[in-house]
Amino acid sequence: MSYHRLSDELEYRGISRRDFLGFCASMAAVLGLPEGAGRAIAAAVENEPKPILIWLEFQDCAGNTESFLRASHPTVADLILDSISLNYHETLMAAAGSQAEDALAQTVRDNAGKYIALVEGSVPTGANGAYCTIGGRSALHIAREVCGAAAATIAVGTCAAFGGIPAARPNPTGALSVGDAVPDVKNLINMSACPANAENITALIVYYMTLKRWPPLDQYRRPLFAYGKAIHDNCERRAHFDAGQYVEAWGDEAHRHGHCLYKMGCKGPATSQNCPVVRWNEGTNWPIGCGHPCIGCAEPNFWDTMTPFYRRLPDVAGFSVGEWVDPVGLGLAGVTTAAVVAHGVGMAVRRRVGEGASKEDESEVE
Ligand code: SF4
Repeated sequence: MSYHRLSDELEYRGISRRDFLGFCASMAAVLGLPEGAGRAIAAAVENEPKPILIWLEFQDCAGNTESFLRASHPTVADLILDSISLNYHETLMAAAGSQAEDALAQTVRDNAGKYIALVEGSVPTGANGAYCTIGGRSALHIAREVCGAAAATIAVGTCAAFGGIPAARPNPTGALSVGDAVPDVKNLINMSACPANAENITALIVYYMTLKRWPPLDQYRRPLFAYGKAIHDNCERRAHFDAGQYVEAWGDEAHRHGHCLYKMGCKGPATSQNCPVVRWNEGTNWPIGCGHPCIGCAEPNFWDTMTPFYRRLPDVAGFSVGEWVDPVGLGLAGVTTAAVVAHGVGMAVRRRVGEGASKEDESEVE
């Protein structure tokens, strides 16, 4: 049975109205939209024609796809991977071989300028693209053809957004980000992280369906709603950073009490993403919440600039943490502590729904 509008599919799949509206409200929260935006999202997502998506995989580990598939919230996986028109996805589709490649060619031909290309993985350019070929064509050839005719291209994960691990020194395959491999691509949006958070990808598509445009972006073409703040600014352990309470060794008393992981190599001060707010696995937890430092996976030049993972950051943009962390952290105790209370971030984000965050940015795409 085929459907054209989500409202039909929700009913068919037995997703209740209550669950659907709850999902739309959570999307509004992720996007930082004002209270009431959930209803507008619901109306748009239910009634607008579904966007046509093509998901390409190049030099990757399929971790972003896995992240989506592991989403336990029923509506997230259903809405994005199933209910929205995902016309081509090498890992998920039933078709194989020439049948699959024909489906891709037909989708591109019939929907030129209308579909959205999602790309996972970097694009190897060494040896004339021989390091990654699909159906006898190189990843570079496919990327240029598919992304070149797309209405927008979403680089999913750090490998697609910035080159990621394949592009780490010495980059033996000549791996490039999608933006570097296809420089004239229209409306490029980088959803970095290793993997990209399924909630953020979902929210991006929902934003487009609701407002018919793409959200404001930062200097690296990442949506501000997901990458507008440093992890350090929203971290639940920030109060301990400000109080000068640091973990000094794995399993020590400070570690058991949830103190700051900066001295254990945390890259949160140099990394922008909404991990502390959205978390992972439908908000269950996130790496720092589990006692592991942030490894900075959403930033350009990850891996080279973020390793060794367990060595203390020497510098943070604008100031040197290495020099001031102890005295300044201690000096600020009691000042920032009141503003960033441990474990209060989740509640703060819920309140943001009512504050609104429709601030526009000059880097907004068409
Ligand atoms: S754990 Fe990392 S992100 Fe959190 S306060 Fe400490 S340094 Fe900042």
